[in-house]
Amino acid sequence: MSQRVLLIQSDAAAAKTIVGALGHSSGEPFHVEWVRRCSEGLKRLDGMEAILLDLYLPDCQGIETFDRLFRAAPSIPILLLIDPQHEKTARLAVQCGAQDYLFKDRLDAYLLPKTLGTMIERAAYGEALFEERERAQVTLNSIGDAVVSTDVSGRVTYLNVVAEDLTGWSQHEAAGHPLEEVLQIIDGTTRQVMQNPTALTIRDDQVSALPPNCVLIRRDGVEAAIEDSTAPIHDSRGTVTGSVMVFHDVSMVRAMTRKMAHLAQHDSLTDLPNRVLLNDRLHEAIILSRRHQRELSVLFLDLDRFKHINDSLGHVVGDRLLQSVAQRLLSCVRGSDTVGRQGGDEFVVLLWEVRRAEDAAIAATKILEALRKPHLIDEHELHITASIGIVTYPEDGTDVETLMKKADLAMYHAKQARHDSYQFFKPEMNARAIERQSLEDTLHYAIERQELVLYYQPKFNLATGGIIGAEALIRWRHPQRGLVPPGQFISIAEECGLIVPIGRWVLREACRQARAWQILGLPPLCVAINVSAVELRAPGFVAGVRATLKEMGLEPCYLELELTETVLIEDSRSVADVLKELKDIGVLLALDDFGTGYSNLSQLKRFPIDALKIDQSFVRDLAVDEDDAGIVTAVIGMGKSLHMRVVAEGVETREQLEILREHGCPQGQGYYFCRPVPAEQFRQLLENDTAAMAVA
Ligand code: C2E
Ligand code: CA
Ligand code: CA
Repeated sequence: MSQRVLLIQSDAAAAKTIVGALGHSSGEPFHVEWVRRCSEGLKRLDGMEAILLDLYLPDCQGIETFDRLFRAAPSIPILLLIDPQHEKTARLAVQCGAQDYLFKDRLDAYLLPKTLGTMIERAAYGEALFEERERAQVTLNSIGDAVVSTDVSGRVTYLNVVAEDLTGWSQHEAAGHPLEEVLQIIDGTTRQVMQNPTALTIRDDQVSALPPNCVLIRRDGVEAAIEDSTAPIHDSRGTVTGSVMVFHDVSMVRAMTRKMAHLAQHDSLTDLPNRVLLNDRLHEAIILSRRHQRELSVLFLDLDRFKHINDSLGHVVGDRLLQSVAQRLLSCVRGSDTVGRQGGDEFVVLLWEVRRAEDAAIAATKILEALRKPHLIDEHELHITASIGIVTYPEDGTDVETLMKKADLAMYHAKQARHDSYQFFKPEMNARAIERQSLEDTLHYAIERQELVLYYQPKFNLATGGIIGAEALIRWRHPQRGLVPPGQFISIAEECGLIVPIGRWVLREACRQARAWQILGLPPLCVAINVSAVELRAPGFVAGVRATLKEMGLEPCYLELELTETVLIEDSRSVADVLKELKDIGVLLALDDFGTGYSNLSQLKRFPIDALKIDQSFVRDLAVDEDDAGIVTAVIGMGKSLHMRVVAEGVETREQLEILREHGCPQGQGYYFCRPVPAEQFRQLLENDTAAMAVA
């Protein structure tokens, strides 16, 4: 392909020489287009690769000629053809952008094509180079990373826009300054100034990077976490001539990472360490305690009756209460101790460096006290207590899992014994836990294998001494263990939900028995059964009672349901509905273990209760404890004013009976009269009783 060259020359003879000289070139051929005037030349610039220009034309002379053409086409290289006396002007033109000049009288077939060829080549290369630089510049400024380059002595030669932003130095200001001055980097943790990696990069001629956790201090003092990599720059011979450092602001990323790590290890409601972090901390604590031969305590804390608050007042209030509990717990421990939320209403407190077990007991007491104070949440004044299990390292275990399991077990025992208390783990608790599990496993088959039986304990009219009713009490004829009392399996049944089918069986069996005695001709009497809160809440309970009475042909007034006081507090709204429906059927309702719960008079009045059973604990010490005597008297009085029957439970002595009679307690039940007995034996009791009554 030939290269198009524009020749602007008024002298025809000279033009001819030139065309001739170019025509004999040995390299690429030139296609010369010749015009005589500047104005003509300006019109023909399109597509030209070079211009051969005589500065002295008919329509334009001197530097002016060059100017016009150069302005019109700055990218086309211009070679000037001059007479020696115009060399000064030619030099000026070269300073302004002309490529070169040749004397007209020295043009020959060798020099001209060669000069022209090189000129075209150089112009093309220069253009490409310019483009390349331009492209690099745009690229460097449009990437998100900051780029800084230095010369071999570590002085800044270049900064892109992002680097200007992050350092606070403009390219212009930074150029020539040592990199350390422009880029001040410190260790984020120790705040020590860090050695800039470029020096190493240049010295060792290899890529390097800053260690993690670096912070760049901007010229105005603002800090940004950065990550970088630095690479050496080489010349064409491979010698290091400088370095380029690429870095970016990772403050957001680091903050985000920190936040994510926090979220993953903390409970979002209370911001306390969660189970994961807690396990880690405990693990660390164990290692440190082992190394320093120190003791360590873990308190496992579970709120008492939290579920009831959550159910009755809603999750929002429940959540706020948990937050309040978390705050109280934190206020009870030292800064070095850990308080974590295990989940739900369970918390764990890790006490470092306890010296004696008593220290843990003191902490537990302090916590119980702190929690006991009312929690003000919205308009509610909430009362909550907790049960705490305590274990000590290394006495109770040397690993996280064992310690937590035993602490949980001890907590469970505390809860069983008395709410609002703590228990240290004892080895026999383990045995009991295993025992409990084995009971639960076999309890599943108790109904179908017909291992359950009801015993009946008579209730007496204290004034006349006659039997006025019976309480059905369940027992489990265990194939290996013999007769298991309800205290050993009812709570298990409640926890695993088996209480519902068991309760259904009790209901059927008691109704069947009551009706059977009537059919035998015995005077009809009211049989009471015990109903757990779980059963009462189970769907279909009321319908089940109605259907069973009908199926067994028992009139509702001969069935009494004994409910515990706590049922009333739990979720009083729905309970009130259930009780009303039961009342509508016509069955009797009694409050069991009265006095141990928290119901007050105003609450009691809202429920259709027929009888109050004074808890055994008050009757037991009736003769010796004035407080108990006072409570019994109060309950009897309360019953009278509310028109509720009062039954004293657990009457064991003549003395107790006398006192109860004195205070006008209408009914009683207890070993003094009779222990719970199998149905057959109860029938005989009834027969004898009827006979006695007849005699009387
Ligand atoms: P509770 O309803 O308070 O029943 C009275 C408990 O006191 C019975 O224990 C009874 O045998 C015992 N008792 C009676 N008189 C005396 C006395 O003079 N002195 C002493 N110290 N105790 C006396 P039991 O049969 O072991 O039942 C324990 C608890 O198990 C019952 O307490 C009741 O809450 C529960 N329970 C029994 N049967 C059932 C049932 O069928 N369903 C449900 N859900 N719970 C039941
Ligand atoms: Ca009872
Ligand atoms: Ca009772």
